Amino acid sequence: MAPLLEIATLRAGYGAINILWNVSLTIAEGQTTVIVGPNGAGKTTLLRAIMGLVPVASGDIRLNGASIRNRATWDTVKDGLVMIPEGRMIFPDMTVEDNLMMGAFPPACRRNWKANRQMVFDLFPRLAQRHDQIAGTLSGGEAQMLAIGRGLMEQPRVCLIDEPSLGLAPVMVDEIFRIVEHLKAQGLTIVLVEQNTNRALKVADHVYLMQSGKVVLSERGDAVNLDRLHALYFAHEE
Ligand code: ATP
Repeated sequence: MAPLLEIATLRAGYGAINILWNVSLTIAEGQTTVIVGPNGAGKTTLLRAIMGLVPVASGDIRLNGASIRNRATWDTVKDGLVMIPEGRMIFPDMTVEDNLMMGAFPPACRRNWKANRQMVFDLFPRLAQRHDQIAGTLSGGEAQMLAIGRGLMEQPRVCLIDEPSLGLAPVMVDEIFRIVEHLKAQGLTIVLVEQNTNRALKVADHVYLMQSGKVVLSERGDAVNLDRLHALYFAHEE
């Protein structure tokens, strides 16, 4: 059976600058795949390429065996691939509730928006309390909850989450990982990019380490050798 999502010898970048060099990953259904790596390793570029936001030069991206390479982002979202971007990217002048509604645009999600909104509010009671608040006035942690909530309104089959704990206080980091664990327990397929390696490894079924646009380690979550991971993480290019 084909894996749910497969990235095969992918090259992608910005204009003449290539960033990803023959990157291959296999994302199994229902699993949490963690991608770690230092700043600039290309983790965000990889997620953006999957979503059709960065052009793919060569290689392929397959969802259920069918290529989604360079496809319109909108079509990819309708097929259930959802990205929760680094930096949250919420709409600061809109209310919490209206931000959530922005995630309910695909027709299938529009039909279920009420139930989905309730599911998000059950998951994040803080968002329910603040449903009328202008999103630009939320704390960093609340804004991250909103970004995750908006992603869940899109009824994802695969959720690509980019650095959700970045810049958050420890108590908020705990909260975000609690949610990731909850979504994992619900059977959602998750691709999590994190710099907080220690925390991310605890939820990982599979771990990839990226370095300078390449995958330099691919390991089952329970088989990761931390010394090797750290040595590769901090290794400098020759
Ligand atoms: P971080 O953890 O710092 O977010 P990352 O692993 O996600 O890093 P990317 O954001 O994918 O890395 O960046 C990879 C490389 O691509 C970096 O050298 C970055 O400067 C470059 N890059 C990112 N966006 C652009 C862009 N729009 N135009 C040109 N280069 C870019």
